[in-house]
Amino acid sequence: MILVLKKEITPNQKNVIKNMLSDHGCITREITDAGKNVIGVIGKCGLDMEDCRQLEGVEKVLPISTAHKLVSRELKSEDTIVRVGNVSIGGDKIAVIAGPCAIESREQAMTIAKEVKKYGAVLFRGGAYKPRSSPYSFQGLEEEGLKILAQVREEVGLGVVTEITSPAQADLMMKYVDVVQIGARNMQNFELLKCVGRMGKPVVLKRGLASTIQEWLMSAEYIAAEGNNNVILCERGIRTFEPYTRNTLDLSAIPVLKKLTHLPIVIDPSHATGIREKVSPMARAAVAAGADALMIEVHHNPDEALSDGPQSLYPEQFGELTRDLYVIAPVVGKQLDFDYLRKNGSPSAAPEGSGRNRVAFIGEYGAYSHKASQGYFSDEVEAVPMSTFRAIFKAVEDNRVEYGIVPLENTLSGSIHENYDLLQSHDLHIVGETTLRVKHHLIAHENTDISGIKRILAPPPAFSQCRNYLDQYPDIELVPVQATASAVKQVKESGDREAAAIGSSMAADIFGMMVLEEAIEDNPRNYTRFAIVSKTAAPVEEATKSCLIFSTGNKPGALFEVMKIFNDYQINLVKLESRPIMGKPWEYMFYIELEADIDSSSLSDMKAGIMEKAEIFRILGRY
Ligand code: PEP
Ligand code: MN
Repeated sequence: MILVLKKEITPNQKNVIKNMLSDHGCITREITDAGKNVIGVIGKCGLDMEDCRQLEGVEKVLPISTAHKLVSRELKSEDTIVRVGNVSIGGDKIAVIAGPCAIESREQAMTIAKEVKKYGAVLFRGGAYKPRSSPYSFQGLEEEGLKILAQVREEVGLGVVTEITSPAQADLMMKYVDVVQIGARNMQNFELLKCVGRMGKPVVLKRGLASTIQEWLMSAEYIAAEGNNNVILCERGIRTFEPYTRNTLDLSAIPVLKKLTHLPIVIDPSHATGIREKVSPMARAAVAAGADALMIEVHHNPDEALSDGPQSLYPEQFGELTRDLYVIAPVVGKQLDFDYLRKNGSPSAAPEGSGRNRVAFIGEYGAYSHKASQGYFSDEVEAVPMSTFRAIFKAVEDNRVEYGIVPLENTLSGSIHENYDLLQSHDLHIVGETTLRVKHHLIAHENTDISGIKRILAPPPAFSQCRNYLDQYPDIELVPVQATASAVKQVKESGDREAAAIGSSMAADIFGMMVLEEAIEDNPRNYTRFAIVSKTAAPVEEATKSCLIFSTGNKPGALFEVMKIFNDYQINLVKLESRPIMGKPWEYMFYIELEADIDSSSLSDMKAGIMEKAEIFRILGRY
């Protein structure tokens, strides 16, 4: 059962409750969930619900109806985020784990680790103890393999994941790796589950070859019951009658698990399909279905691989896949943790121990800009609200924050000109970009209904983006406010149960409000693109994108001449925006984004050509 504690409970009352429960042989776990302090009571317990309801400081007592308790959504409604160093698995980010099936040599591991990191992997996988179907197959390098994994972490800078096959390996695992994996064949090896539960390191728990979701969750419960909640469930295909693929990937497990448990889910399409060309389609589908992470086998020379070569992607194929995932993720409200290490390597990152890096965003906590900053940065970066765009630029310029995040354009309402002008007038660099799907919800107090709503608060653009929905309720008054998050805050603070706000689900969570209607925007293709600005340029060797500003003067054909140069070099331009130059009527500053590195040596003639034609020329960023 779950004891929801009263807000005003005293530490003394809490201790009385905990002592009483333990005297009656109950196992307890105290957690904070959706802003509430709760105690989960599990195992055989001499107290019943009525007894607990009488305890001082208890607001209510709820049963946990499922067999799995600690890992159930009933105990904890908020998603669990498993942290591995500064990588987060769960929440709004999609983490990609990649590497070979087995560690074969130091050289093989280093080569693949560098490749997968380059293409966006945030953790490296590789088996040192391989549970093979045949005793004559390669069994792994064992401790030597673990040492190589530790060297990968050291030299390449990726956290490492490997399979543990026996409790006897626990000490070595503690010493060398960041995440331990329980393989499919060991999912019900209960001594091993208890062992990793006691180790406390994050665990990837693979689903057994023929296990039900219920059995799988009970195995997770074994780990949690030992006090380790850092469990990531890994669907890797189950045995069915279908022989074409190695296993059958059960993608329906994702929405099923999302309902049953708060634990994050990783999908392994490599072992699920066993066939290289089937891996990427299933990986893309997994992200669309709501997976939190992917685990992909990659090998630079799969024909010579000592295990699972036929299902291993070539590094370039893996790179193509992460590019696709980068585009798919925002559709389901997530961000691929693509630039992760590059961001952390930024020279403006705070030196260790000097406190957290900060990023300034516009609006209140829960604003879309806040959500975008959370998707882009690791949790070590603290988001700081500001009331104007100018204040954001100023704060970065004055070193009060390391980064600013500003919207540049929205797919429905167009460019945010003020920020283009601020980029022109401030000497800052664009170090990255991120895209957020703007999904509007109608948010109100708990236990309210649309029939009782008399007014809706939102900024005018949000009203226009939700026109079809709002037209159904002509009697509801529309109250314009400055921003979505402040609308939610106002409704909350007023206590007005006849008022609702339009905003993000994050704002609803932050202010403890209820989503009355989901996704009420007319057009689902509602995306905002943000630029990340910093005082220091991104330390990239080879950028994939560059952003420039230039002016040409008011001469016939001047813009065409510059455009022609891009055409001559077959450079793809993804954005062209013009802004009037202050004090020079009818002269314009052009903003261009190109899919190329303007500073690469192969484009030096192109750059020189543009600089010759342009009156003003400045590189805003390469990233
Ligand atoms: C592996 O990840 O290399 C592995 C052996 O996986 P599974 O346990 O899913 O077969
Ligand atoms: Mn494998």
